[in-house]
Amino acid sequence: MNATLLESLTQQLPAGTVLVGDDIGVRHHCDWTGRNPLPPMAVVRPASTSEVSTVLRLCHEAGQPIVVQGGLTGLAGGATPRQGEIAISLERLTGIEAIDPDAGTMQVRAGTPLSVVHDAAAAVGLQFPLDLGARGSCTIGGNISTNAGGNRVIRYGMARDLVLGLEAVLADGTVVSSLNAMLKNNAGYDLKHLFIGSEGTLGIVTRAVLRLHADARERLTAFVAVDSFDALVALLGAMRRGLGGQLSSFETMWSDYYEFAFQAVAPGPRPFAEPHSHYALIEMEALEPQADLARLESLLADVLDAGLAADAVVANSLAEASRLWIVRDSAGQLIPTLKNPISYDVSMPISKMADYLAEVERRVAPILSNRSVWVFGHLGDGNLHVITSLENPSDAPSSDHAVYSPLTGFGSVSAEHGIGVIKRDWLPASRNEAERALMQQLKSSLDPRGILNRGRVL
Ligand SMILES: Cc1cc2nc3c(=O)[nH]c(=O)nc-3n(C[C@H](O)[C@H](O)[C@H](O)COP(=O)(O)OP(=O)(O)OC[C@H]3O[C@@H](n4cnc5c(N)ncnc54)[C@H](O)[C@@H]3O)c2cc1C
Repeated sequence: MNATLLESLTQQLPAGTVLVGDDIGVRHHCDWTGRNPLPPMAVVRPASTSEVSTVLRLCHEAGQPIVVQGGLTGLAGGATPRQGEIAISLERLTGIEAIDPDAGTMQVRAGTPLSVVHDAAAAVGLQFPLDLGARGSCTIGGNISTNAGGNRVIRYGMARDLVLGLEAVLADGTVVSSLNAMLKNNAGYDLKHLFIGSEGTLGIVTRAVLRLHADARERLTAFVAVDSFDALVALLGAMRRGLGGQLSSFETMWSDYYEFAFQAVAPGPRPFAEPHSHYALIEMEALEPQADLARLESLLADVLDAGLAADAVVANSLAEASRLWIVRDSAGQLIPTLKNPISYDVSMPISKMADYLAEVERRVAPILSNRSVWVFGHLGDGNLHVITSLENPSDAPSSDHAVYSPLTGFGSVSAEHGIGVIKRDWLPASRNEAERALMQQLKSSLDPRGILNRGRVL
């Protein structure tokens, strides 16, 4: 970063906005992966859209590359600084600007943590259904930029389905305010989609209008064991048909993940006496709790009678339900205990999953540090999280190859975490030449000097 730019940023922004040297906290050195940490040349913390615009205008004029940082819980290396970059952190652009409970909308600044959005919606008797393990630290701007998924996609869709409008600042500082609050608006291109899921490469999201939903009166949680992958898929079908729109989660764990997770994060009695091959955590949104509980129990009795499920329990307290969710969300504890772990986030048609996993296990077997490949995820969304643990770190490219190459032609190398830096070389496995060329054209037209999140995605 040249001295003139630093001087301009310091002069044109309020005191305390620009941090350099020892004032830069280590949290700005990398995202949650911890891979390739690097201190940025400076951290700029704008507190308004116009300040974001000033920073980008000055950086654009100087050709200064920048990296955008939200809550830094990303898993694709996208928010990790690269050589010569300054970081624009949204940590001071926070707060709920407006809630309309009748229309079911909330306008919010991009740096607001997801859990704050949840609490604000709950305070008016509504819910913002996007939910994921990093809810306390991730920001709504990061969720939008990565098109985050999470635990309730089966019922409410991904971030894209929950954003009505947004405001973004382009690389040259132009503010595009498209804070639409209407469900229907077909007046020309819906520009918000350029910024949702583009991982900060086309603009910085500064504000958004979110879509709120009626809150469930209660959430019923069941935990079901099955003895084969086919039974797991049949169970999903039975739950979809039996619970309809009230099925809000169908989260799955393979036996190794389940064993580790209970041991590590939820010691004490397990829900089932016998081990099984797969487990499903099922959540139902209850509108009439007594009647809905009876319906869920009867459905579970049917799947047990039909031999689809091997065992099943319904959580009978919030504490029991939250223990099961802690187990499901324990990847954050599992990964640091493994030798040279790599975490993958892939998606594909459910009909291809069994063959795909068998192929991955065959290919990675020679390089694993122990026999296990940990698998869990959002089966109802066709999304699996796969973790490998390698004997030698130098085998990482072979592990990537084993997991990604069998997906070519039918699956995605990123179901929900994004491409970032880490998966950039694998984009061609999921997007064809024409798609990539159009992406590059959009990038060049919106960010002609290539200053925004350079080297991410493309
Ligand atoms: C324990 C754990 C569980 C997780 N579970 C899930 C899950 O179930 N589903 C899921 O989808 N993800 C999950 N994630 C990944 C992560 O939480 C999400 O990707 C989240 O949306 C990132 O938000 P963030 O604010 O931390 O973004 P960051 O990590 O700061 O940034 C992520 C990307 O978005 C860009 N960015 C951030 N803010 C903006 C902005 N305002 N404008 C433009 N670009 C921006 C960054 O440059 C970067 O490329 C999980 C992560 C952890 C640690």
